[in-house]
Amino acid sequence: MVSSLQSAPAPTRQADPPDLFRVAVEQFELAADILGLEDSMRQILTHCQREITVNFPVEMDDGSVQVFTGHRVQHNNGPGPTKGGIRYHQNVTLSEVKALAMLMTWKCAVVGLPYGGAKGGVTVNPKMLSQNELQNLTRRYVSDISPFIGPNQDIPAPDMNTNAQTMAWIMDTYSMNAGYSVPGVVTGKPLTLGGSEGRAEATGSGVVFAIEEAARAIGLNLEGATAAVQGFGNVGSVAALEMAKRGSKVVGISDWKGGVYNPAGLDVAALKEHTEATGSVTDFPGTDAISNDELLELPCDILIPAAIECQIHAGNAPRIQATIVAEGANGPTMPEADEILFDRGILVLPDIFCNAGGVTVSYFEWVQSLQWFPWSLEEVNSRLQQIMQKSFAAIYATAGEHQINMRTAALVKAIDRVADFTRLRGIFP
Ligand code: NAD
Repeated sequence: MVSSLQSAPAPTRQADPPDLFRVAVEQFELAADILGLEDSMRQILTHCQREITVNFPVEMDDGSVQVFTGHRVQHNNGPGPTKGGIRYHQNVTLSEVKALAMLMTWKCAVVGLPYGGAKGGVTVNPKMLSQNELQNLTRRYVSDISPFIGPNQDIPAPDMNTNAQTMAWIMDTYSMNAGYSVPGVVTGKPLTLGGSEGRAEATGSGVVFAIEEAARAIGLNLEGATAAVQGFGNVGSVAALEMAKRGSKVVGISDWKGGVYNPAGLDVAALKEHTEATGSVTDFPGTDAISNDELLELPCDILIPAAIECQIHAGNAPRIQATIVAEGANGPTMPEADEILFDRGILVLPDIFCNAGGVTVSYFEWVQSLQWFPWSLEEVNSRLQQIMQKSFAAIYATAGEHQINMRTAALVKAIDRVADFTRLRGIFP
């Protein structure tokens, strides 16, 4: 027994299974090569500063006790407090949480927020738990990580299978321990508890602000332009509605069940009502049924993948007809497809920039919570637009300068910014 313990390898970064974190590091190295980043900086930025794992008991409704495992990873706090969502999913692993924390650092840096990246997760199938059990789990997980979170330290937000109610429980748990209300400890809160106007729509709105800039850069008039949207949830539905508001013709929309197509343009608001009533976009009157694969290859100016990852791959990339691909979803384009789209002159607005509207308005929510001073929807949207405009210009210029695609350019900008913070602050002691 003792000898097997003695021969066990020391837990190092390499001990993770072949994994998402390694993929994130590989992406980092590509951009670091372009920047000519020094080895010491590469070492610092490819490690997460804090990796917290907690195993905690939860009393279930039937009186039994179950122990769950959760993580909170803070990748880098050079630019400011760390920020990132908390997800509940049965497949959550430390490696996944580390990769997502690192990506949050780059996403915040791309749009110039004063945050580093973090992520949290609990390995649980939330569909197997009652509301009461979910509340118990949330409060205990947050209690266990509470020494490491806080409005000046690390600020969680919703992610997969967590929502405004989860954030309300986190805010309350943290506040109970502090002895006073601390709304700035989380974002994505219900409006009543200090949530921000425009937060729910922020990602979809940001996607369309990004598209506006891209269209201007390549001389495409959005009025009369055609768009196709994959996914009609939080991000896709807002993006489709906003495109229609700008006079674009949204010719195709799909969801998990299939898609609808009308070359003359869909009535997006009516389709939203149909979806709310029936649970899907399919069978919307006056449209042709199409598959998700067909939607991606529709003749259109702008394609907005806003559903799930890995949708554009080497197989379909040669047949994408859009001029702009705006990634509402996280990771919808595979690396090999990126190269094909770039060679074909298609402008891809990468996820770390294109869907950063959500974290940007989270930042606005945090500012409002710290100041106990809510902003109007107009103020939120106008500031979001300014940030998307400025970020687009910087990424587009970097892409042109190095003749690289927008994804690598965004990463180059982000890594350069975080490296700057690190150099200026120096190494303690
Ligand atoms: P959502 O659950 O509200 O909507 C997802 C949509 O995708 C639904 O219409 C669903 O039917 C559809 N869908 C699911 N599986 C599909 C499949 N196999 N094929 C086609 N469509 C499918 O989710 P959301 O919040 O809109 O998030 C969508 C994407 O955007 C995700 O990748 C998410 O990580 C990313 N994202 C969301 C936010 C945000 O603020 N909500 C922020 C950044 C990134």
